Amino acid sequence: MNLSKRDKAVNWHPYTQMKTANDIIPIVRGKGIYLFDDEGKQYIDAVSSWWVTLHGHAHPYIAKRVSDQLHTLEQVIFAGFTHEPAVQLSENLLSLLPENQKKIFYSDNGSTAVEVALKMCIQYAYNQKHKKTKILAFKNAYHGDTFGAMSVSGRSVWTQPFGEMLFEVVFIDVPTAENLDRLTTFIESISHETACFIYEPLIQGAAGMLMHKAEDLSELMKVCRKQKILMIQDEVFTGFGRTGKLFAADHLSEKPDIMCFSKGLTGGTMPMGITSCSLEIFDEFLSDDRYKTLFHGHSFTANPLACTAALASMELLLQPETLENIDLIVKKHSVFSEILRRHSKVENVRQTGTILAWEIISSGKTSYFNDIVKMLYKEFLNRGIILRPLGNVMYLVPPYCITSEELDFIYHQIIEVLDHFYH
Ligand SMILES: *Cc1c(COP(=O)(O)O)cnc(C)c1O
Repeated sequence: MNLSKRDKAVNWHPYTQMKTANDIIPIVRGKGIYLFDDEGKQYIDAVSSWWVTLHGHAHPYIAKRVSDQLHTLEQVIFAGFTHEPAVQLSENLLSLLPENQKKIFYSDNGSTAVEVALKMCIQYAYNQKHKKTKILAFKNAYHGDTFGAMSVSGRSVWTQPFGEMLFEVVFIDVPTAENLDRLTTFIESISHETACFIYEPLIQGAAGMLMHKAEDLSELMKVCRKQKILMIQDEVFTGFGRTGKLFAADHLSEKPDIMCFSKGLTGGTMPMGITSCSLEIFDEFLSDDRYKTLFHGHSFTANPLACTAALASMELLLQPETLENIDLIVKKHSVFSEILRRHSKVENVRQTGTILAWEIISSGKTSYFNDIVKMLYKEFLNRGIILRPLGNVMYLVPPYCITSEELDFIYHQIIEVLDHFYH
């Protein structure tokens, strides 16, 4: 039996209707921006394997570092013990974050990083004996798939079966120059009972790469600061260079209280989540009273292999060649976005740094439209490019090691498919 058939017999895939899923592709190895299937066909990973891969697949430097670590210390309980990779990673990461970020809490993925952040905020108020139970989030937000993370995410087909079990959240519009006054008045009216505001800065990824302006978000953050509402900046997607700067925070004039990281944190090599916070938050948990402890942890907290992968990935990220190539991607996307804007089958072209998104126009009915999206996905696969649409939104989130020629190849294929492949 081939891998696809064996897979079908035993595996249940994420976000996949297993009844209709047929083309599950077995990948046998990866190298740089390429993935290779069991028949030797190669694919450009233009979505960085769900936005995690920074420096390409099976990067030899990360592999070497993780392999060395694997022979030294693979795992140790992180309550009562520590190790060099965790200390070094916290030191290195904190040196790159806004200067108010002073402590690092480790977990396993983006969703858990969000859970930890929410618990920090809720218990911060609890430890102060304040009754603050409201949480603010953006409409269409996505913060993960565990229950807390789902609760602060926009309500959608993804959350529908669990609707009644999700805690209540106040959803607000993303800020614009026009609605800022209205948002400010509203936030002022509920601030006394609001514990925190959680948001994806600059770009709402899973909602379909919806973008808002850094100036407007900074203004909104000013309001929260003034109203003493804690800010959780979810940089699970935007962190580590995606927005053209190291962090979305580098575009903003205000500093969050808490930040969440995952996805690109280890260069896409190992699962890991990080929640960083300010001393103001941390100090509120310092007490002789045991009940003020943050009672949260995971078996694999600060796993040494994941920490090492993150250390190696951050070293690669800060190399001049990587930063120059990020700039190159940003510039080339910007030129290509002008071409897309003039295309009759495309609308709402938008870009934040290395992330380029556009929407497909079709005159047909919704069902026909869904078929088009499926067909586009397949057609790009045939052409050796992984471009996985989110509804009618297509996007590019390439690994930073992509070359100018490889980008041109992708752009060319996109235009060809749009021109000729459907009406
Ligand atoms: C992907 C994502 C998450 C969830 O991360 P997982 O590792 O998939 O749990 C949270 N927040 C944002 C902004 C994300 O893009």
